[in-house]
Amino acid sequence: MSDRTKDDKQLRKTRVPMPEQDPEARGRNFDEVPLGYTPQQAQAEARRCLQCKKPVCIDGCPVRVDIPGFIKLIVEGDFAAAARKIKETNVLPAICGRVCPQEEQCEVKCLLGKRWEPVAVGRLERFAADFEREHNLVQVPAPAEPIGKRVAVVGSGPAGLTVAGDLAALGYEVTVFEAFHKPGGVLMYGIPEFRLPKAIVEAEVGYLKELGVRFEMNQVVGKTITIEELLNEEGFHAVFIGVGAGLPWFMGIPGENLGGVYSANEYLTRANLMKAYAFPEYDTPIVRGRQVCVVGGGNVAMDSARTALRLGAGKVTVLYRRSRDELPARREEVHHAEEEGIRFEFLCAPVAYLGDERGMVKQARCRKMELGEPDASGRRRPVPLDGEEFLVDTDLVIVAIGSGANPLLTKEARGLDLNRRGYLVTNEAGRTSQRQVWAGGDIVTGSATVILAMGAGKKAAEDVHRLLSGDPHPTQPSGG
Ligand code: FAD
Ligand code: SF4
Repeated sequence: MSDRTKDDKQLRKTRVPMPEQDPEARGRNFDEVPLGYTPQQAQAEARRCLQCKKPVCIDGCPVRVDIPGFIKLIVEGDFAAAARKIKETNVLPAICGRVCPQEEQCEVKCLLGKRWEPVAVGRLERFAADFEREHNLVQVPAPAEPIGKRVAVVGSGPAGLTVAGDLAALGYEVTVFEAFHKPGGVLMYGIPEFRLPKAIVEAEVGYLKELGVRFEMNQVVGKTITIEELLNEEGFHAVFIGVGAGLPWFMGIPGENLGGVYSANEYLTRANLMKAYAFPEYDTPIVRGRQVCVVGGGNVAMDSARTALRLGAGKVTVLYRRSRDELPARREEVHHAEEEGIRFEFLCAPVAYLGDERGMVKQARCRKMELGEPDASGRRRPVPLDGEEFLVDTDLVIVAIGSGANPLLTKEARGLDLNRRGYLVTNEAGRTSQRQVWAGGDIVTGSATVILAMGAGKKAAEDVHRLLSGDPHPTQPSGG
């Protein structure tokens, strides 16, 4: 074998590493951790792709991005065209390139991954979208011929944004109603700046505005306006509900009302949306704990722990009731958290919080657990060990054990079927039990992922178009 062939083979085996901020430095700032590929690095990684005749990677992508198609354009050096290729089916590429769990989706299917490391599809997606934006190469498609139909989208998370972008591109007049003062849903208020810079969310929302989507902020549908009013008085022909699953769960243990015990939802919203980290420039109060306990083991727990560290905590401990093997957070997030010095206590759960004379939390009483038989999720059930308790000193507890459906909108809207957990029931295409009303994302599936919410939005947009255009075989909606 020639040296050249050997080199090529070696290059095929391993991914081009992503440059990152040094762990020591980044634990004290909110700047993004991975720094992104240079054009040379992106092209080297793109050349690893085999350009398969049957690209199985596409089957792993809920919005069916033409993965070999955009990667080929990167190899050819036409980076803006690569971004446009992604946008044919995905209106939020810079976001997905950062936060999608590609290792469980396109990358897990990648043929190269059968023998070596799969192609770094997410990093390449991020590169193409960043290049296009940073070099002012974003092209907004010419406005479509107006269809003369109006669609209201409730909630501006990834599900709502996808519906809005796809239908606007087809010529619908789309208005998004959002409860918060900024659009983006969890992308804006949940996922921290160091994983997803807010300027990027704003830029991708800006693209939708250019497509003609209108945003009405501070509109809590169900309170300030109802779905019936949108349909019957405001003249919308269809409503899409994408309100997410943002009602935080607590454990119902003593002491959860003490000062310094937050839900992850509230903690991250204060930090991200209300920019508590930029105090005094932004006047948002937040407890800056010195000894922080985070309860839970998912991505939300990792985000909370790493945010607390950046807000000045000396020691941050994640309390998780199962073992390391069952941690639901992405491996990359756990790795980043550990690199930054976050500690993990496995097989333990708080049973009570103890407060001081001012009503502020000062200790968590925890019980040791062991793993029993697998439960409905297939993971081994944590079983408390009697009498095995210990105290952890803490001045800030962040509860990140999950969240559910907020009944604010669903309880008001008559005729919408809910399942027993309070989520909306829809068919495959996102149709609810009420005529002219569709739904998708976390409010249907329970807490899931950005790309699944986008996939649901895409299917609903297709169905809305099918119904409102009266065309049994309409063209596929696309954002780009
Ligand atoms: P959401 O993003 O929740 O958006 C719903 C929007 O509706 C919100 O803006 C809300 O204010 C608005 N709304 C609610 N009620 C009303 C009302 N009555 N009227 C008007 N507006 C309303 N997924 C990943 O893929 N990768 C990750 O790395 C990742 N990290 C995460 C980190 C955190 C901290 C959290 C909380 C979630 C994370 N997720 C991640 C999950 C992902 O963000 C969600 O699955 C996704 O955002 C769901 O999208 P959605 O459009 O259904 O709802
Ligand atoms: Fe490229 Fe992997 Fe997709 Fe094949 S499966 S086209 S190697 S990304």
